[in-house]
Amino acid sequence: MRIDIATLFTEMCDSVLHESIVGRGIKNGFIEIYTHDIRDYTENRHRKVDDKPYGGGTGMVMQAQPVYDCVMDIVSKHRKRPRIIYMSPQGEVLTQEKVKELAREEGLILLCGHYEGIDQRVLDELECEELSVGDYVLTGGELPALIVADAVARLQKGVLPNEDAYSIESHYNGLLEHPQYTMPRVWRGREVPVELTTGDHKVIAEWQRRAALRVTEDKRPDMHEQYMDSLLESFRDEFIEAKGLDDDTEITEVFRFGRNEEESERLLKLVLRGKKRASTMSLRAYESDGEPLPEKGSYSIVTDWDGIPRCVIKVTRVSVIPFCDITLQQALKEGEDTELSAWQEKHRDYFDMHGMLYGYSFSEDMPVVYEEFRVEYKKRQS
Ligand code: SAM
Repeated sequence: MRIDIATLFTEMCDSVLHESIVGRGIKNGFIEIYTHDIRDYTENRHRKVDDKPYGGGTGMVMQAQPVYDCVMDIVSKHRKRPRIIYMSPQGEVLTQEKVKELAREEGLILLCGHYEGIDQRVLDELECEELSVGDYVLTGGELPALIVADAVARLQKGVLPNEDAYSIESHYNGLLEHPQYTMPRVWRGREVPVELTTGDHKVIAEWQRRAALRVTEDKRPDMHEQYMDSLLESFRDEFIEAKGLDDDTEITEVFRFGRNEEESERLLKLVLRGKKRASTMSLRAYESDGEPLPEKGSYSIVTDWDGIPRCVIKVTRVSVIPFCDITLQQALKEGEDTELSAWQEKHRDYFDMHGMLYGYSFSEDMPVVYEEFRVEYKKRQS
C-alpha cells in the first residue's frame, strides 16, 4: 500500500513517520509513505500558498492552484487513481471500521489544510472525501494525517508481528481490549490476576474475553450495547438457520439464570447438560411486572452471566400450582436437589427474599409458575 501526504510541513510529518513501528514498516518495505511539499508547486517567486479570504474575516486560505498541482502530480505516480482525503474537522469522524476500510486500499492521498483551510473549489474539483479525527479543531491537518497513516499502516501485513497484535485490540471487533499486565507479579501489593499466571491458554483466553466485555460495559456502555445486540442477533439467526425455522420466529425472552456469577454458571451448566429442565417462579412476580406467563412452544435465549448467548430453550409445559403441591418428580427436574425437602427449603428461602422485593409474604399454598423446558439449540463453543 502507498500513502502520500500533501502538506506545507513535510519535516513535521517525516520526523514522526520514520520512528518506531511505522518507521520500521517503511524501511522493511511493508508500506510506502511519502510526504510532498505543496509549496514546491507554487507559481510565484515567493512560494506563497495562501491569500486573504473572499468576504473578509481573519486568517488566510490556502490557494487552489498549488494544492491541485501537488495532488495531481501525486495521482500520476499511482497505477490507479487513489482516494483523495482532505483532513478536515467537518469530515466523517475516524473510527476503527473506517481505518479497516482504508487499509484495504492500494493507495491514499491525505491532504493537510492549514490556516483557515483550503479554497473550496479545489476540494470540489478533486472530489475529496473529508475525514476528521474528532470534534475539535487543530491548527493543521498534519497531526490528523499522521493519525490516519499510523492507524492504516499498522494493519498492513508485516508492520506488526502478527494479526493478533491488532485484531484483539480495542475497537477492532467492537470491544475494548482487556487490561494488560507485565512483570513484576506483585507491585505495591497489587497482584496480576491469577488466571493470567496459570499458563493455561484456555483459562487465559476466557479471562481476557470476559475482562474485555466488562471493561467495555464499564467504559463504553454504548459500544457494549451495540456489541451485545449484534451477538444476540447473529445467535438468533444461527439458531433459526440450524433449525430451519421461519425468519420471523419470535424469541420471547433473553435471560440468565441465577442471582450471581457463580450461581449463574452452575445453573447454566446444568441446563446445557440437560440436567435442569424446569424452573419455578412466583406468580406474583409475573403479576407485578405485568408480564404474561410463559407459553408452551415459546423460545428463549439463555445467556451466561456476562450476557453471552449460550443456548435456546423451548417451553414444553407451564402449570400454575400451589407451592406445597410440587412433587418430588417436579423438584428433580430442576436438577439441583435429590430430595423434595431440600428443594422446598431452598425455595422457601428464595421466595422469602423475593417476597420482600415484590411485596408479598411466602405461604405454603402460594401459587407458583412451574415451567418445563428443553434445550433446542446450543452455541457452538469457539
Ligand atoms: N476553518 C476550518 C473550519 O472551521 O472548519 C478549520 C481550519 S483548521 C484551523 C486548519 C486545518 O486543520 C484544516 O484545514 C484541517 O486540514 C485541519 N484540521 C483541524 N482540525 C481537524 C480535525 N479535527 N480533523 C481533521 N483535520 C483537522
